[in-house]
Amino acid sequence: MTELRAGGATDTGLVRDHNEDRYLADERLFAVADGVGGHKAGEVASQTAVETLQRAFTEPTTDALVDAVKTANRTVWDLAESNSDQRGMGTTLTAIALVDGGDEDRLAIVNVGDSRAYLLQQGQLEQLTEDHSLVEQLVRDGQLTPAEAQVHPQRSIITRALGLDPEVEVDSWELTPYKGDRLLLCSDGLTNEVSDEEIATTLRTVSDPEEAAQQLVNEAREHGGSDNITCVVVDVVDDDNRAEHASAILSAEPPPPPGRAQAATLQPTDDDAAGAGARATMAPPRAEPPAAPAARPRRFTWRVLAFILAVVVVIGLAFVAVGWYARHTYFVGLDNGQVAIFKGRPGGLLWFQPTLDQRTALAEKDVPPARLPDVKAGQEEATRAEAQRYVNALRQESAAQTSTTTTTAVAPPAPAPAAPAPSTP
Ligand code: MG
Repeated sequence: MTELRAGGATDTGLVRDHNEDRYLADERLFAVADGVGGHKAGEVASQTAVETLQRAFTEPTTDALVDAVKTANRTVWDLAESNSDQRGMGTTLTAIALVDGGDEDRLAIVNVGDSRAYLLQQGQLEQLTEDHSLVEQLVRDGQLTPAEAQVHPQRSIITRALGLDPEVEVDSWELTPYKGDRLLLCSDGLTNEVSDEEIATTLRTVSDPEEAAQQLVNEAREHGGSDNITCVVVDVVDDDNRAEHASAILSAEPPPPPGRAQAATLQPTDDDAAGAGARATMAPPRAEPPAAPAARPRRFTWRVLAFILAVVVVIGLAFVAVGWYARHTYFVGLDNGQVAIFKGRPGGLLWFQPTLDQRTALAEKDVPPARLPDVKAGQEEATRAEAQRYVNALRQESAAQTSTTTTTAVAPPAPAPAAPAPSTP
């Protein structure tokens, strides 16, 4: 049984006069919503989104969570359409839910807008979500560096939000929760003020989730608190001992890539009544074709297992092939001053060392000098019979050489049994 423990904190900040952020920290469902819109419509949007999400999330699956976000979108949209004061209101929504992944519990993460979800795992902080914001789009297009985006005056313009359109594209991910993992949901009031390094330090050092959330809010206030600030910290306190079984595999895996947002031509919405200082919203053009479902990179699934298995099989086959090649050839070499036939490759191949197959009666000193370098290096032959033939040839050449040496002082360059004695001028 996966067990989670969570704590949240929210604050108006030092500049705004009311708080349009909302959060939810239920037993299995956690969310942060950052509302947008004038005449307090922003807080109506965020409140409506969080309440609808909680009500509509009735089945513990990722698809149900995505559907609940779409229901929340529709509810905010309908409310905005039916009330002129609230027309154009919208909200971000980032949520985490414990879902049923078949044989194990999973965490589903969904996102619309520029609130964020982070994962702190083994001390390393990783942003799980991708911002749907103008500056993020410019960074992706290579027109801004991440550092420039961090201080860009239009950094709070979002390109996707709940309530701006009857349909919404929802990014979603799944990951396997491991004991000791810590997740953070937060609005941009935190991330625009506090760096990822500072966030990581606080998450690493403050153990109680509620105190950690409050501490992060305090840091955003200390850095200026120019926006509403909201944080929810979720700790995985029990995981059925999955961490012990799978941490090795997990640590070998790359972090999940965020779902790619669709590149849309940006158009301002008809409402920009948020007023000076408040964030504006931009939405994709309404004529856009229906968005493709967001990709769901999984941290550890049967696909990964199948991949690992395939790699193991390929390595095994390569091992067998190399072994076969290394062990099924022969060479003629020297063993303690005697010509010998070895099984294997001269000098060995990888960890396959040659073995002595047969020592012959032919001594090194009897090997014809022209052949000696080959024999010393190891004369390779495909089969034992060929190696045997080579040894026989050596023996014959040696005998011929011995007989010619006894009749003449000059050894023939290519010894042959029937070589005639050279005539001396
Ligand atoms: Mg905000």
